[in-house]
Order: sequence, then C-alpha cells, then structure tokens
Amino acid sequence: MALDFRPVIDRMTSTPDRPQRNAPTPVRLSQNELPWGPPEPVLNAMTEALQTVNRYPDYHRTAARTAIANVVGVAPEWVAVDNGSGSLLHGLARLVIEPGTTAIYGWPSFEAYPASVALAGGSPSPVDLNAEGAMDLAALRDAMGDSTRLVVLCNPNNPTGGFIGIDDLRAFLSSVPDNVLVVLDEAYREFVTAEDVSESIALVHEFENVAIVRTMSKSYGLAGVRAGYVIAQERIALALRRSSVGFALNSVADAAIIAAFSPEGLQIAEERIQRIVAERERFLAALTAAGVSHLPTESNFVFIHGDAAELTKRFEAQGVMSRPFPHAGGVRITIGAPAENDAALAVFN
Ligand code: PMP
Repeated sequence: MALDFRPVIDRMTSTPDRPQRNAPTPVRLSQNELPWGPPEPVLNAMTEALQTVNRYPDYHRTAARTAIANVVGVAPEWVAVDNGSGSLLHGLARLVIEPGTTAIYGWPSFEAYPASVALAGGSPSPVDLNAEGAMDLAALRDAMGDSTRLVVLCNPNNPTGGFIGIDDLRAFLSSVPDNVLVVLDEAYREFVTAEDVSESIALVHEFENVAIVRTMSKSYGLAGVRAGYVIAQERIALALRRSSVGFALNSVADAAIIAAFSPEGLQIAEERIQRIVAERERFLAALTAAGVSHLPTESNFVFIHGDAAELTKRFEAQGVMSRPFPHAGGVRITIGAPAENDAALAVFN
C-alpha cells in the first residue's frame, strides 16, 4: 500500500527558475538578489566560523539577536532569527493557524503566504492589490471575518513594488482585532526611500499582535547564506523561537548576521542600497522615456506590464533572466549592476 500524503501536500507546487536558453552568461535578474558577492567583513567572519563547524552553534543565538536588537533599538528578547525569512513566515503561521482558521493577504504576492497557511491546516484568503500594486488595506479589512487569525502585509509588495506608508499601516492596525496576528513582511524595506527603514519598528512597540519579518537575502546580499529575523514583542518572539526547528540557522549564517550588523557591515550595506536605488531611478526613467508601462516601485525590482511569455522571451534574447507573472499581466525584473540593467533596458531600445 502506498503512502497517503495529506491533500495539501499533493497541492504544493514549486516555482523553479526558468531554464536559460541562447545565453552563455545569463544576467540573473529573476530572483531579487544583489549583484555583488559578500562584503569583506562578512566573508571574513563566515570563513572564521567555518573553523569551528564541528560544534553546534549557541542554541539561543544570543550574539546574533543582540547584534540585530542593538541596531534596531529593541531588546534581544524581541528578536528571533532563523534560516531565511521564508522559514520565519512558516513559523509565524504555525503560531496561530490551524484547521478552521483563515489568513488574509494581498495578491499577487510572495508564494510562501498561501503555502505556509495551507501547510498549517488553515484557509488562505487572497485579496486583490490596488491599481498601484500595493496592498488594498480597506479591502483587506473588509475580507477579515471571525475565522481570521493571520494577516500578512508585504511592504513593499513582491512582485509589484507598491509601498504603504506608516500612517496608513497604523490606522489599519488599529482596526484589527487583538486576536489576529499581523505579519509585516519587510523583505525589501531597506530599498524604500519614501520613509526611513527604522520607522516601522515603532509599530511593534505600539501593537502587541504585530511581527516584522526581515531578511539578510536582499539588501545585505546574503541570499545563499539563508538568514532572516523577526522583530516582535517578547511573547511572539519567544513563541517563535520555542516552536522553531532547533539549530536550523547554521553557525556560518549566524556569524554573517553578526558581521553584517557591525558598523562596518552596515555601512557597506547602506552604500550598496544607495547604488541599487540610484540604478532603480535610472531604470525607471529609461522605461518611462521608452514608453514602457510599469508600476511604481520602492524596491529592488520593477514590474513591467505586458504579455509575460513574450516579454520573458525578449529578455532571454538579451541574455537576461526575468520572472514572468502571467496571471498578474507582466514580468518582474530585478535591479542589478549597471551593465546588467543596460542589458535589460536594451530590450526596449
Ligand atoms: N518575503 C518576500 C516578500 C520575499 O520576496 C522573499 C524572497 N523572495 C522572502 C520573504 C524570503 O526570503 P528569504 O527566505 O531568502 O529570507
């Protein structure tokens, strides 16, 4: 007799990168990564950590959590770290989602939201974004009902780039019942220029049902290391740490977090963010000049309207990997290094 998986397992799909054709050295603008390798202080810290990988890391990750806490301005008890923010999103869903419960989130957005909710046994309930590709907070509020236990807000939203400012978020949070966990996924928050990156932290002080999720994969350029963190009041952060898979964050990633949050690490990250933001503005201006329809973005990617399959092929012809979103009516393209962006822009010349 064969194994019977839970039906939710059979419904799981993966989204592998499209195979690259006709391009000897593909320009990878499909994954929202940084184009540069790890900064030297982070590389040195990871290399040193390799010397002692015969030992388990500190179970409580006190040094990494303290490094983050000191920069963000909260107590280390308010921080949880894990092997990527994707893992943390699953962990947060597990805290409140069970059969009979519902989770609300904007759509299209990050695929982990429906996956984490379904795997935890709950019902995912997507809500359309507004015309600018940001969350429609009024529609999200309207979609909430008695069974709602989780709301996930992706800000800026992936794959569209739309951003909601803190005043609107605060008003929304004030209207959400206390028994609903609100996860603010800020994977791309460091690329936002409309508001300082530190501002949203005030929300976890003001609301005990809010958890901010951030990652080392994007602005810190450490996607392959797999590290992310949550800022939330102690009750949530502790529940998350207690229910996580012990030791999942490896000691090399642990060391990378500490080095990335050192003054030198932060300064390098800030310089890199500024370079990407400058390239983003150049990229957007070039799209506008070429009459290419696209969404406004506060992130390190831009959503270009059009036939997804056709646009993807045109990028491929330039050796550029983009990410098609057929159902959302376009493709997402990451802002990379100047020459990479030129290769992408050549599609519209
Ligand atoms: N949140 C969002 C919105 C993302 O786009 C991603 C990665 N694509 C993640 C979370 C997960 O990032 P990671 O697991 O690498 O931290």
